[in-house]
Amino acid sequence: MSVLMGGRLQNVNESSPMTVKRATVFVDRDGTLNPDPGYIASPEEFECFPTVPEAILQLNRAGLTVIMVTNQSGIARGYFSLQNLEDIHRKLQDDLAKSRAWLDDVLFCPHHPDDGCRCRKPNPGMIERAVARHPIDVAASYVVGDQSRDIEMAHGVGAKGILVMTGRDSQEALAVCREKRLPVDFVAPCFSDAVSWILRR
Ligand SMILES: [Mg+2]
Ligand SMILES: [Zn+2]
Repeated sequence: MSVLMGGRLQNVNESSPMTVKRATVFVDRDGTLNPDPGYIASPEEFECFPTVPEAILQLNRAGLTVIMVTNQSGIARGYFSLQNLEDIHRKLQDDLAKSRAWLDDVLFCPHHPDDGCRCRKPNPGMIERAVARHPIDVAASYVVGDQSRDIEMAHGVGAKGILVMTGRDSQEALAVCREKRLPVDFVAPCFSDAVSWILRR
């Protein structure tokens, strides 16, 4: 968008006028991309579900931005360090790279639930940070996760919410969403089903 200011046409977007805002898939980590045994503390404990790299590659090739958004309160709880978390995320990116897939960004909340931070899901802080860093069309975007707070975050920012059933408590999450009347746009058996649904739209 351009506006006339002081007699001169100026661009009021942060991003360049040539930058198209892209639909983005905000993807949760534990229970969505990988089995969730609770508080993964080292790369050795981390492994993607087998169909995940190919599914992310499909999103990459379709021109969607893919950003991981993950609550990692294990840092605040002292279960693992920031370095441990970075090592885990490097392993994830390396595993994806073997299939030529990638995450455009990785955002995490290291805080404790009692900290009252803005970045812990369902709060929108990680999406706000992503929007400051990338040209994102939030209304055309998706949040994919295994917990009701993923759906709640989607709803809060006006994105679509997809619940995957690969989490430890996915059934309960679905019940909570119904109870709280949080609209679940799609219930996906697994992440690659979520991707297929997104790409059909
Ligand atoms: Mg999760
Ligand atoms: Zn936080």
